Amino acid sequence: MDQAAMDAKNFPPDNLADFLLGSDLLFCVLLDAGGIIRAHSPGVPRLLHLSGDVCLNRPFVAHLAENDAEPFRRRLTETGREGSDEFLLNLHSPIQGPSTLRCRLFPHPRGILFVGESPIAKADVLTEELMQLNNRLAVLSRENTRKNRELEERNRQLQEANRTIEELARKDPLTGAANLRKFNEVLNFEAERGARLETPLVMIMLDLDHFKQVNDLYGHDAGDKVLIAVTAFLMKGVRPYDLVARIGGEEIALLLPETDLDKGVEAAERLRRELAELVIDGYPERITASFGVALLPPGENPGRLMTRADAALYRAKEQGRNRVERETAPA
Ligand code: GH3
Ligand code: MG
Ligand code: MG
Repeated sequence: MDQAAMDAKNFPPDNLADFLLGSDLLFCVLLDAGGIIRAHSPGVPRLLHLSGDVCLNRPFVAHLAENDAEPFRRRLTETGREGSDEFLLNLHSPIQGPSTLRCRLFPHPRGILFVGESPIAKADVLTEELMQLNNRLAVLSRENTRKNRELEERNRQLQEANRTIEELARKDPLTGAANLRKFNEVLNFEAERGARLETPLVMIMLDLDHFKQVNDLYGHDAGDKVLIAVTAFLMKGVRPYDLVARIGGEEIALLLPETDLDKGVEAAERLRRELAELVIDGYPERITASFGVALLPPGENPGRLMTRADAALYRAKEQGRNRVERETAPA
């Protein structure tokens, strides 16, 4: 016997047959010479919707579609040493209905080995894999949602921190009043609004009188306390939409939108009078300030407004301090 013939005689080798009968994916049945099921792979009962015990020792043809039973019986008797060619077989399951297998028959020491590829078993495995993937996807999606929430929260905190930084950048740290940067921003904004509404605005600039002496006589801390108290007094003493800004050491600027020069001077005079009587915690003396008042008519550029208020303030100092001076009309 040549090698090819020996291979054919032994095909499939027993261990391969055992492997096939153990496969979950293949539809594999060991039939005796009479076509009775003597062993089968685990997927077979599942495919036939039978329990494992019911499957054994029954004629295989009982599970075939009516037209396939007789041809299959013939194939069993005709299967030689080389096994059969590939053929299609229609199974019949009372629950599942017909399903088609791609099959081959092989000689086996104890009969004939039927091997079929089961599309349903394959689909079961794929369904199982799909379910696992779906579960994994659900977990990832939950994780993703959680991470997104965390990210949103971080962004919110960042925006809040940015707002705080923006605010601090426009505040005088000692008194909490606006600083020069904020003053200029509001001045430009109010100048534009005034142009649109055709209303004037007033700038009051004030400088504490002999403030150097406060520091010299009572110390720098007392000087700070005075600055804090004066700023708080001014902020309380103006309308909510007026601005109080500390623009220099002991120089404070006020912006009064929708105010004409007379009203501005009136407001400055009232503040000057009340400030001179202000009792400051931690400072035994009274403090006074000199005021300069300037007007920005509607539509005019605010560029030189501060210079004009400063010039009026300078005159107030020159003329004895603790007084209000308004800007003079340009010559
Ligand atoms: P005048 O009436 O002419 O304005 O006299 P003055 O002493 O107020 O003017 P001067 O410009 O000579 O002095 C201002 C003083 O303000 C000098 C400085 O020590 C003080 N000063 C400026 N900033 C601060 C501050 O933040 N805290 C304290 N305590 N003092 C300050
Ligand atoms: Mg000064
Ligand atoms: Mg001063």
